[in-house]
Amino acid sequence: MFYFLISFLSFLILSKSFTSTPLSIGFWLNLSSSSISRIKKSSISFSFSFYKAPLSMPLTKNMISESKLDDHEGEGDKISLLDLPELPLESILERLSPAELCNMAGVCKSLRDRCQSDYLWEKLMKQKWGKVIGDSAYQQWRCHVASRNSQINQQNQRGLFGSFLWIKPKSQNGGQERRSNDSVMALYISLTSGKFWFPAQVYNRENGHAGFMLSCYDAQLCYDSKTDTFQARYAPHGRWAVEENIPWERLRIPPMDISPHVLYTSDCLDDLRPGDHIEIQWRRNKEFPHGWWYGVVGHLKSCAERGNHCCCHLSDTVILEFKQYNPGSRWRQTVINRRHHREEGNEVDGFYGGIRKLHSEDEIARWNNLWPTKTVE
Ligand SMILES: [Zn+2]
Repeated sequence: MFYFLISFLSFLILSKSFTSTPLSIGFWLNLSSSSISRIKKSSISFSFSFYKAPLSMPLTKNMISESKLDDHEGEGDKISLLDLPELPLESILERLSPAELCNMAGVCKSLRDRCQSDYLWEKLMKQKWGKVIGDSAYQQWRCHVASRNSQINQQNQRGLFGSFLWIKPKSQNGGQERRSNDSVMALYISLTSGKFWFPAQVYNRENGHAGFMLSCYDAQLCYDSKTDTFQARYAPHGRWAVEENIPWERLRIPPMDISPHVLYTSDCLDDLRPGDHIEIQWRRNKEFPHGWWYGVVGHLKSCAERGNHCCCHLSDTVILEFKQYNPGSRWRQTVINRRHHREEGNEVDGFYGGIRKLHSEDEIARWNNLWPTKTVE
């Protein structure tokens, strides 16, 4: 009990120092690799002189577990980082940046296990990649890891059995150690280093090419840390298209986990009313992948938009307007039948597919932020 009380007290004081003493937090956040190597050299022991930042209460020997101090008798006021109670240690690690966690992982096996934990990296993943990495990207990552592991296994088997078919492997562990790492940390590093291409969607593809204005297309993406932008490879559209220097704002997680070649089944046709914001699939011909295009539901010609007298929602005919195009443009408007709509169009005007109604203000705002400075022909 005494040990618990003292440990708890030291945690409280440490926690207080984290919240009330910026210098103390700054020390940990700025823990450089040189500091870490110093820790390493001194057998993971470090002096309490590190805590010279002004604390609300001076940190003294009494606040540290007596038994722990006994272990360090003869080493002055030194204590091991790993001697800290679990919560303060976790609290310190949670405040480290990815680079600092990687450095810290090199100190010893115990810190390596802690610094590589999915728990710590999931938070970092969410912070940096949460807006562009979705289920389909995670799925592709799992396939990528499985495929690499399968290759490694085959190589191991060839190596072991290739010339000596009668020799059995000594153990399975050797192979397992060389397996590709499927941790969240490995995914984070592969994304940041640009080694892993992931699926996502890109607004206004090909640098806002007029033919793609206010659309969103599936692509494979790769991050470039030097420019903090992305490179995209768009699914074959008669040709492979590549685009570079795509900023974060033009990426999104695919809202539905379906292939761009699959027709989306609309579930909102009965609800469409004038003024609703929608996205509709469109493709040039049936060999091409769909892109998602932003539009709004308009009024029927017969309606004259008379406020409370509007009965457009009762009609089977629905007008979809794409106001990024000039009023005379053939892309400005299309008509669908809410009872029978599946995919409609022709080889000249393209094919209009599934419709999703936008309910989220954020989604609508994103489209409006991408609005072209002038209307498109
Ligand atoms: Zn109307």
